[in-house]
Amino acid sequence: MTRETTLCDIKSMTVEELAAALREMGEGAFRSRQIFAWLHRGARSFEEMTDLSKDLRARLGERFTLYAPRPARKQVSSADGTTKYLWELADGNCIETVLMRYRHGNTVCVSSQVGCRMGCAFCASAIGGKVRDLRPSEILDQVIFTQLDTGLPVGNIVLMGIGEPLDNLVSVLRFLELVNCPQGLNIGMRHVSLSTCGLIPGIQRLGELGLQLTLSVSLHAPDSETRSKIMPVNRAYDVEDLFAACHAYFKKTGRRISFEYAMIDGVNDHDWQADLIAKKLRGMPGHVNLIPLNDVHESPLKPSRRLRQFQKRLEDRGVTATVRRSLGGDIDASCGQLRRKAMEEDTQGRQET
Ligand code: SAH
Repeated sequence: MTRETTLCDIKSMTVEELAAALREMGEGAFRSRQIFAWLHRGARSFEEMTDLSKDLRARLGERFTLYAPRPARKQVSSADGTTKYLWELADGNCIETVLMRYRHGNTVCVSSQVGCRMGCAFCASAIGGKVRDLRPSEILDQVIFTQLDTGLPVGNIVLMGIGEPLDNLVSVLRFLELVNCPQGLNIGMRHVSLSTCGLIPGIQRLGELGLQLTLSVSLHAPDSETRSKIMPVNRAYDVEDLFAACHAYFKKTGRRISFEYAMIDGVNDHDWQADLIAKKLRGMPGHVNLIPLNDVHESPLKPSRRLRQFQKRLEDRGVTATVRRSLGGDIDASCGQLRRKAMEEDTQGRQET
């Protein structure tokens, strides 16, 4: 992303950048705060900003671009209220966002890229590869418009949708700055989780920044051989180095890391793998989140039936482990499934006509 595109895309700008640009246009700081608030409340055009003069609205339109996503599909789970959106972006690409309703508040799961290039064997987002990175505004819009459309206040954000956030780190960091801004959504870093497949340089960068967010690492196997089979990223960033980076991250930030572990039948659910996880996490208060594998029909991998045994084995060895409750099972709510389905249906539609 070039500096120029950031400057033109008004919703990717910070309040300070907006103030500087408006100063150049002969407008005061008050105006920039007013405009920033409109943007973060989900204004779809400058015309909507009715407390600005017509002339200023026209000049804004000449200088900046302002986009808003269109809800292409929406599914609401009848069981638990989980709501899933497929948003169509200005260039026609689609991304997914999921709103989950927990007792501790509403959590929105956002995508960071269109598609993903990490190629994990069990993940629906990987099929088709990466199309492009999302701009900060496009990540932010997922929160703004999910909140607007559902009418539910969003308290927590998880960067666990489609894409690898640390593969789009510059935009993700800007998104975090924007969402954190008191004049905007004002969602604190402690209410944000970021999930990565293990891009070590990105983890190191986050460690240096010392942000108060929760880091989730998609572990899925503690040994190189298994991990390389299901996660190609392991060939570039080996799990041994990943564990070392996690220990260093904890030392720097004092923040407990959460490890995601999708349980796959006969692949990563052996007792010795639980033992190895416990050994590798020694000296660090990690938390392992065991996820029942979502069946992706393109993949031969099957869900494990050993979740409880695996959990007990970890806990007996001093590792906190939980089994993730699955929400939205009736609405393709996980990991790129809705986007896949829409793409398949589009292809079928084209073939039929
Ligand atoms: N790229 C990031 C975030 C997106 S995926 C990452 O890899 O962490 C969010 C989480 O869902 C990851 O832990 C991912 O490994 C997991 N996941 C993907 N496909 C899954 C499936 N079929 N069943 C269970 N978990 C899955």
